[in-house]
Amino acid sequence: MQTGNEFFKNNKAAISKADNYDREMLYDLIIKQFDLLGIDLSEFKYKKVVLKPNLLMRFAPEKAVTVHPDVVFAVAKIFIEAGASVLLAESPGGPYTQGHLRTVYKTSGMEKASKDVGFELNYDTSYTEVNTTGGQRSNKFCIINPILEADCIVNLCKLKTHSMALMTAAVKNLFGTVPGTLKVEYHSRFPKNEDFAAAIVDLTAYICKTKKVISVCDAIIGMEGNGPSGGNPKKIGCIISSENPFALDLLASHIIGTDNSVTMIENAKARGFIPEDISDLEIYGDGPENFVVKDFILPDTHKKNILNHLPSFLQPRPKVVKKICIGCGECARSCPQKIITIKKHKAHIDRKKCIKCYCCQELCRPGAIKIHRSFIYKIVK
Ligand code: SF4
Ligand code: SF4
Repeated sequence: MQTGNEFFKNNKAAISKADNYDREMLYDLIIKQFDLLGIDLSEFKYKKVVLKPNLLMRFAPEKAVTVHPDVVFAVAKIFIEAGASVLLAESPGGPYTQGHLRTVYKTSGMEKASKDVGFELNYDTSYTEVNTTGGQRSNKFCIINPILEADCIVNLCKLKTHSMALMTAAVKNLFGTVPGTLKVEYHSRFPKNEDFAAAIVDLTAYICKTKKVISVCDAIIGMEGNGPSGGNPKKIGCIISSENPFALDLLASHIIGTDNSVTMIENAKARGFIPEDISDLEIYGDGPENFVVKDFILPDTHKKNILNHLPSFLQPRPKVVKKICIGCGECARSCPQKIITIKKHKAHIDRKKCIKCYCCQELCRPGAIKIHRSFIYKIVK
């Protein structure tokens, strides 16, 4: 099995047309992609395969916040038939507790998929701090134990916009191996996007160097606008797979028109984990140009131009829409700066100390946190 430093010599990715979530179609398509990528399924007999889906929050599949359960079903079936033991493990946003996992598994359709095909759902909430030498920003990460105990991690991601990172697919999904609210501490330690992105690349590189990782991206219905939870579902129409999560993200970024703008990908390029351009990837399947979405809507926070250098008070920022806020306090618990208070059942943000990580927006289920743009931003955009 490929682990160690070999992952970044692997620039192969497969992309295939998929119009819907038919389980049998997905099963055949993903097996074909694995074959094109040279993945030998006979290697997985008696191995521990851990599926790591993007289950950001307790959302139903049609909201396009979480990876679709029928993609999970198809991938699980492939590995079960190969003779592996298959466990699904994820640390969603919010507390890493058995009760929270149970509600997320149920709402996202994972509970049903697990019963239908026969994989296990993880309820072990233990984790370990590991030394990850060689990082640019962090040499220590807390990682949930099922990931550390796996022979192979199947990284089941969703292609979405992200208000802070611009895009989330394979690389950002692996940040969900950090337990629950400990994720917030990394935002505190690395308030600047460049530093946070470098830390995520540190974590991803560590996982890829120590484990076999296969990434499969659900880009059938992705999310545009103010993702990863507050945007709108958008049909993209493909599945992307790769053994190099950075290569998958490079290709995915091209599909949604964010080439050269995603800080995590630029950091990975600078470290030599991927080439500069998708023309240097070995791409199999239906051809990426067939899936490029010309009108893909990016987050309101994103600007490629001079507006990024405006003073902080003129930059976009999170704003609570009081009519929608139900006072649940999830945003306050997820804020690394601890600047959100709940008064009279409504959230209030002390915006002077805001680092614009958008964790609050990401974890607000009712969608009460919007992106406020200054008049200059509105005029120029
Ligand atoms: S803003 Fe959202 S997360 Fe925060 S208290 Fe209101 S509803 Fe809950
Ligand atoms: S208010 Fe929101 S965007 Fe600002 S630091 Fe807190 S979680 Fe991050």
